[in-house]
Amino acid sequence: MTGKVAVVTGASRGIGRAIAERLARDGAQVVVNYARSSERAEQVVAGIREQRGHATAIQADMGQPEEIARLFEQTAERFGRLDILVNNAGAYEARPLERSDEAHYAALFDVNVRGVLLASREAARRFGDTGGRIINISSGAARAAVPGGAVYAASKAAVEALTRCHAAELGPRGITVNAVAPGFTQSDMLDVALPMDAREAMIALTALGRLGRPEDIADVVAFLASDDARWITGETLGASGGLRA
Ligand code: NAP
Repeated sequence: MTGKVAVVTGASRGIGRAIAERLARDGAQVVVNYARSSERAEQVVAGIREQRGHATAIQADMGQPEEIARLFEQTAERFGRLDILVNNAGAYEARPLERSDEAHYAALFDVNVRGVLLASREAARRFGDTGGRIINISSGAARAAVPGGAVYAASKAAVEALTRCHAAELGPRGITVNAVAPGFTQSDMLDVALPMDAREAMIALTALGRLGRPEDIADVVAFLASDDARWITGETLGASGGLRA
């Protein structure tokens, strides 16, 4: 991926951090986007530079349209090109239907769906003649039936719909669009989503008998971003250790 420029949204922690580190190891120049954790984002950048990689941190709340536009403007100013977008930033909150409201809907859909839509638009406008790669992070939740999980699941189902349609639309320009649907993966989000006392039961539902690690997901994203995945588009790849809930 030498010479390629990748934007990874939500890369200060968790899965996004592992994706940024892996793409940088593969030779890409990486934009480490974050919303609030500037110190952690700078640590990710410093770690990549220590390994002789190229990275820069850019703050932008993916729930705010004008900040999304600024992220891509600053990326263009800094690097002058764009080849890969990983829409990883995501928001999660479970609420029973009776307590769900507009604010709950907006908090999840503004980042998980509108953020993916607008970032993909900005990337599609900027990809060059050699095409591009968009990789969206969905979730196994898109197909699960979890009480309180409806809004999050709906937002990730929407991500998979965007993936299919954008792949069809952008294919003629040599741009592939795919999604990765992680199962339970160790991160701050999982600490909120899956209480400690429920973990063993969930692990028992996986074929491989453990929680995912951010690197497990990053390796799949790196494959989809690579030339090896040139014939794959519009797909959602599950990466869950064989979770069958
Ligand atoms: P995480 O540990 O909570 O990290 C979230 C990352 O996204 C942080 O870097 C955070 O930045 C950033 N972020 C959050 N809201 C943002 C916003 N509005 N704008 C820009 N960045 C924002 O989450 P994770 O578990 O790594 O999840 C990453 C993705 O995987 C999400 O799309 C999630 O839905 C999906 N996923 C996770 C799991 C799982 O088990 N962990 C399973 C399936 C799917 P700050 O540090 O600045 O807040």
